[in-house]
Formats: sequence, C-alpha cells, structure tokens
Amino acid sequence: MLSEVDRLVTCQFCRVRSYLSSNGGYRYVLPHKAPADAQLIYVPYWRFKGMLFACSAAGIQHRFFDVSLAALETPQLPKSLGLRSQTLKLSFAGPDVPGRFLEPQRGRQAILADFTRQLRRDPPQAVLYQAHIGESLSLIYAPFYRGRQLMDAVLNRPLTQAPGPPLEDLAGGPSRWRLRFLATLCPQCGWEMEGSRDALALSCRNCASMYTAGLHGWEPMPFATLAPSAQRTVHLPFWRIQADVAGVALTTYADLVRLANLPRAPRATWEQTPFHFWSPAFKVRPATFFRLARGITLAFPPIPLVEELPAGPVVPANLPPCEGAEIQKILLASFMHPPRLVGEGLAGIRILPREYRLVYLPFEERHHELVQPAMRLALSKNQLALAGNL
Ligand SMILES: [Zn+2]
Repeated sequence: MLSEVDRLVTCQFCRVRSYLSSNGGYRYVLPHKAPADAQLIYVPYWRFKGMLFACSAAGIQHRFFDVSLAALETPQLPKSLGLRSQTLKLSFAGPDVPGRFLEPQRGRQAILADFTRQLRRDPPQAVLYQAHIGESLSLIYAPFYRGRQLMDAVLNRPLTQAPGPPLEDLAGGPSRWRLRFLATLCPQCGWEMEGSRDALALSCRNCASMYTAGLHGWEPMPFATLAPSAQRTVHLPFWRIQADVAGVALTTYADLVRLANLPRAPRATWEQTPFHFWSPAFKVRPATFFRLARGITLAFPPIPLVEELPAGPVVPANLPPCEGAEIQKILLASFMHPPRLVGEGLAGIRILPREYRLVYLPFEERHHELVQPAMRLALSKNQLALAGNL
C-alpha cells in the first residue's frame, strides 16, 4: 500500500484518505527521448479523471472522463496533455528522477472549478444536478529541455508554440516526493494482511478484521458479508450507506416502496426497517456503476449480514465510500415517482451520509458473467477485468 509522505488529508465523512482530498494527489512523469546530457525541465499538468453523472429533464446521462490542464500560465506550452496521459506509461515522480520540477501556479481549487466548468458545458440540456464519482486529481509532469529552441522531450522535437517567458526563470526545484510504505501487518494480531496494490482496505484472515490506511496509520473498516447460496461465487464489495435525507420522506424501507412506487405488498416491519443507499466500492464503467447502485438500492438485500470476511475469491474495494455517497441524489432522481417530483424537488433535497459499511455480496460465476440472481443483476467478467484502467 503506497501513500505520499506530505500533504495528506482524510475525508471528513469516511475517514479514508482520498487522492482528491489531498492537496496534490499523486505525481507522475511522462517518459522522454531527450539526449542524455539534456537538462530536463518538468512542467506540471493537472489530470482529472472519473465518472460524470448528470440529471436533466431528459433523464440521466453518464460518461467517463479523463482530462488535463496546464498548471502554469505559459503561452508557449500546450494547454493540455491531450491523449498523452492515457497512452504513455507514467512513472512516479520520485527523488530518483533527475530534472527541475516547476511549481504549479494554479492551485487545486482553481483547477477543479475549471474542470467542472469544462465538463458541465457538454450536456446541452439544463442540468438539475451533476456528480463526479471516482474522481482523482493528480499532477503529471511533462518533460521539456532547452536546445536551440524549447524542445518537447516526449517526442524530442522542437515546440511549435507561441513564445513566452523562459521556463528556466520559473520557480521549481528537484523532486522531493517520496512514497511511504505502510507495513501490512494486522494492528490487532500481527498477521500479514491481504489486499491488492490499489485496495482501499486490507483484510486479516487470522482475526477476521479489515483496516484502511488513515492519517495516523491503520484504522478499522466496518464490513459485513452476505453468505453465498451457490457453489462458485465471487464476492463483490459495495458501500451500504445510511444517510439523513431532508426534503423528501426516505428513512425506512416503507418510505422507499412509496417513493419509488415499487410493486411490492407492504409489510408492517418495513416501517421500522432503515433505508440504505448502495453503490459499488470497485471501479467499473459508469453505466454499470449506476445500474448496480440502483438495482441493489431498490432490491434492498433483506438477508441478515454477518460480520465475517467472505470465503473464496473477492474483488478488492478501490473506491472510497464518500465517492459512493456522491451518486445518491442521482439514484433518487432515477426512482422518485412520479418523475415530475424530480424537476420540482431535486434542488430542495439534502442528503447527508451518516454511516457506511463495506458489504460483500455474492455473485455466481457463469461463463461470461457474474450474476446475483436474487437481485436480478449481472455484469460481464470482461468489464471487471478492464476496470483497472479506469
Ligand atoms: Zn488480525
């Protein structure tokens, strides 16, 4: 598990350190083809990627985005990295990378506002509500050097942009960023914990506990599992989030049945059963993310959960719970009935997430798909395999 030594901030709600909440996030460099004796100057670009969900009178639109903008106001340099951030191999901008790293002139707040504006322009309909999910903000340093003229070191070609102030005059210095490695031993029993490189939480099979890397080391992660009913199952992680909803009655399962006009015969116990929002805790394409979040929230997994780690294969959780909370208003807009309520009331609805739990739900493994028959949900294995790039 990797993290940066400096500039760590923990999310107020989920206590999980997210890339976006940190002042800078991760820093990467693009590869270069400059001559060995070239004095490289690394120019910072902000990269913002994630999923965009927008709710308008026309319905709910969603898409994946991956955009970049220069962190320096210099006319001689390209305004964005174009496809380079997606097509070139990035490596961490550690102290072993020689060169001069220029300081960003445009901070995180200003750049987020720019990105949000840029993304908002796209859907032409009047947007009632917009959420960015799984977003991460990072800095990518593009290499340049001074030959007879300013050279783009990625292609080792002269830059054909307008003239501007010499890059050599701008503030900067050598890379001083390091990665911190947290020992992955269980803080409770000392056992080696399990989890993939991008996992948000590691699990200890010895004492059946889960931990996430917080500001002061490992912090317990609340979790539960829905026991499988079939043989070949894979457990997928979801966030079960309890929230205070103001502006519309949505506290119990009975409220949900009424609000979404679900064709289910009412039961007296539903008036006491608390309502939860659900959303995937793993990265997957926007359409699937939304389909799963909506499907499980409306299916309302009724079987009691156990505080145990799932047996067998598990998909790692790599999306923090505060990201899952972002989808809630979009979910509400998708099932509120009658739909006119959405246009009238969405702006007045406030959702304050209060409590979360990481819940593993069993999916049966079929030839091409993972299927949750009780909730009538499926996703292709291929999609899950490709999600590493998101
Ligand atoms: Zn343990």
